[in-house]
Amino acid sequence: MAGPRPVVMSGPSGAGKSTLLKKLLKEFDGAFGFSVSHTTRSPRPGEENGKDYHFVSRDVMQTSVANGEFIESAEFSGNMYGTSKAAVQAVQAQNLICILDIDMQGVKNIKKTDLNPIYVSVQAPSMDILEKRLRDRKTESEESLQKRLHAAKVDVEISKEPGLFDVVIINDDLEAAYGKLKEVLLKEIQLVRDANKSS
Ligand code: ADP
Ligand code: 5GP
Repeated sequence: MAGPRPVVMSGPSGAGKSTLLKKLLKEFDGAFGFSVSHTTRSPRPGEENGKDYHFVSRDVMQTSVANGEFIESAEFSGNMYGTSKAAVQAVQAQNLICILDIDMQGVKNIKKTDLNPIYVSVQAPSMDILEKRLRDRKTESEESLQKRLHAAKVDVEISKEPGLFDVVIINDDLEAAYGKLKEVLLKEIQLVRDANKSS
């Protein structure tokens, strides 16, 4: 039997994807599993290797990509990011809803695979608010911040493409955005819960 459909979460850096995902994983413990991506960027304070990302060198990542170990990979803001086949398989083997937090290039590349996820775009209410959130997060250098804002402008435009996303969530009020996210995923959550009850 096919497992639950994965979920792709995309949207500009700073839009609130991680914040929403943390809430979801906490409330529905046992329904979702996070696909742990690889990246060549440095860990932020509080980030754990193997949990938030697999933090690797560019050499290691390039070799793994060349070996065909990745479903998709992309260059974002001066670093490599990618979803390994193993990361998705680890979640799907447990019959959990696999969540991928990936950028727009990742979305376009996943569309070429047979993963068949639900595509969710998370957007900030405006570019000014996005910039403020990114600055207040205090995780980026000025250079990284500018690269992210530039990528965000492209992201906002592309995310309007009809049919690209199943839903675009404007993350203004956090609780309202979270409510919308849960609504979109309710059917898959119920399927996983029913499967767990009968097993
Ligand atoms: P992303 O994972 O998309 O890069 P984050 O989840 O890290 O974004 O959110 C960026 C910053 O904005 C964080 O400091 C977070 O606490 C804050 N944030 C997220 N959602 C909201 C919201 N609805 N209102 C105000 N601040 C928010
Ligand atoms: P951050 O450095 O803020 O954690 O992530 C920067 C961007 O990279 C975000 O838009 C995030 O969604 C994206 N990202 C994280 N992991 C992956 C991945 O495995 N593949 C792709 N294509 N993008 C990713």
